[in-house]
Amino acid sequence: MRVLVVEDDPDLLRQLHKALSDGGYVVDQASDGEEGHFLGDTEPYDVVVLDLGLPVVDGVTVLKRWREAARTMPVLILTARDQWGEKVAGFDAGADDYVTKPFHMEEVLARVRALIRRSAGHATPELSCGTLVVDTSSGRVTVDGSQVKLTAQEFRLLAYLMHHKNKVCSRTELTEHIYDQDFDLDSNTIEVFIGRLRKKIGIPVIHTKRGLGYQIADPD
Ligand code: CA
Repeated sequence: MRVLVVEDDPDLLRQLHKALSDGGYVVDQASDGEEGHFLGDTEPYDVVVLDLGLPVVDGVTVLKRWREAARTMPVLILTARDQWGEKVAGFDAGADDYVTKPFHMEEVLARVRALIRRSAGHATPELSCGTLVVDTSSGRVTVDGSQVKLTAQEFRLLAYLMHHKNKVCSRTELTEHIYDQDFDLDSNTIEVFIGRLRKKIGIPVIHTKRGLGYQIADPD
C-alpha cells in the first residue's frame, strides 16, 4: 500500500514517515502544498495524510484541486487543535477523516488502516479467501488456522491482492503500490514473489490472468 504524507513540520514528517514505513507502507512525502498536490495528482496512492496548514498552497486548496480533478483516494487530514472551522473546511473539500494535533502515532496508523479497508469495501481488519485469512491490523496470515510466515514484501503483495479480491491487478499496478520508487523494477520480480506466495500459502487462490496480471479469488 502506497501512502503520501504532506506535512511541513520536519520532525512530524520524519515521525510519520518512520511510523508508516514500519507499518509496512511504501511512503512518499512532500513538505509543501505545491509538491504535495503534484504528487497526489500524478502518482497512485492508496491513502494520503494531509496537513492543512501548509506553505505555498494550503491543504484545503490542495484537497479541493484533487477532488475537482476526480482524484478519489482516501484523505486523512491533520488539523490544529481548537480549529473547528478548519475541520469543516477540510470535510467540505472532500476529506474522509481527520486527526487533531497533537496526536498519538497509533491513532494515525489505525485511521489509515481503516480508510484503506473502507475504500476497498471491507468493514473489518480480517480479509479472507477460502481458508486464507489476512489480519491487516496485526499483520498475521493464516491458512486453515496455521500461521504462515511471510517477508515484508510478500505480505505487502498479498495484502494488496486481498484488498482488491476478484480484481485482476496488472504487474505495473502491483509494482506501483508495493515497492519504493527506487526499487529495481525488473518485470520478473512480481512473478517471483507470486511464486513464493503460492508455495507458502499452499491453497490455489492466486490466479494468473495471462497478459493481464494476477487475481486473488476463492478456490473453486
Ligand atoms: Ca503545518
